[in-house]
Amino acid sequence: MLEVFGHQVNRGEKAYFTIPVGELAHKAMVKIPVIVAAGTESGPTLWINGTVHGDELNGSYGAWELTRELPLSSFKGTLIVTPIANPLAFECRNKISAVDSMDMDTAFPGDPEGMFTQRIAYILYSEMKKHASALINFHTMATPYKANPYSVRKLVPGVGPKVNETAEGMQRAFGVVANCVVDLSGSTNELPGVTSGALDITCLQDGIPAFMGEMGQGGKIERPYIDAAKTGIQNVMRYLGMMEGDIVRPKRQVLITKRRFLRIGQGGFMTMRVAPGDEIKAGSAMLDIHYYGDVVEQMKAAGDYYIIGARENPVVSTGDRIAFVGTQWREWA
Ligand SMILES: [Zn+2]
Repeated sequence: MLEVFGHQVNRGEKAYFTIPVGELAHKAMVKIPVIVAAGTESGPTLWINGTVHGDELNGSYGAWELTRELPLSSFKGTLIVTPIANPLAFECRNKISAVDSMDMDTAFPGDPEGMFTQRIAYILYSEMKKHASALINFHTMATPYKANPYSVRKLVPGVGPKVNETAEGMQRAFGVVANCVVDLSGSTNELPGVTSGALDITCLQDGIPAFMGEMGQGGKIERPYIDAAKTGIQNVMRYLGMMEGDIVRPKRQVLITKRRFLRIGQGGFMTMRVAPGDEIKAGSAMLDIHYYGDVVEQMKAAGDYYIIGARENPVVSTGDRIAFVGTQWREWA
């Protein structure tokens, strides 16, 4: 028998419940949903977390759907899913919550006496640390950006080779085309949260192999990317020995070893000329900014780029991120 957040679940049982994590000013309780699918036979525990950022839905939705569909006799071990880790930000349909303006993916391992977001992170992570053999943390790009699914694995100083090796195997098995590896000993150009207090980093530091699945666009439910998440979870379960069958991988996988955001100089309306998955040469036209019908700025690629994500929302101000690109990549043979 398992005990997860104080709820008892037997082998061969599925449980859906909510746990209280705090209360709002008008005394409404805030709760997070938890799904435990305990396979008939014992084995590893794969923890799947989603919506650390409140508008990032596809991966969570896929994990949720998969636990409904997967027979408990079809796998060994346990799936634990926390699909809405950040209910405050989820309620705001935003990356961060309006209650304390914190980014939960900078808040792990949390603080039981900290701000609301830090307290939720603490409740969640304390339980995760007890149970998880491995973690998939689902994100998406922010709401204005289109992207194909991609994975991200971090090389964190001090993490042992065995943990990194398993994390790499999981990432590869997940089975998406574009895969980033971010070396935190020398990382630049990354957004806050990529480098400290992120759930995957905290797990790796505690010896729990982890990576992030970035499943498309924020604020949307996109069926192909939900299905990619479901396939990816089952691939990782096969890699971890939780499930029989072949790992389903695309013909081509790309390993991106350097990446960055590109920002625009002028404001106005944007016409994007590239799409996620494009590989473009230095000097290629990437986008036009126009105002009163005139093109006021044209951005050309400063180097060779792999387009990971591209802005969809056409309204831009100075400094807005317009694309997320790989600047160094190779075939992952
Ligand atoms: Zn995110």
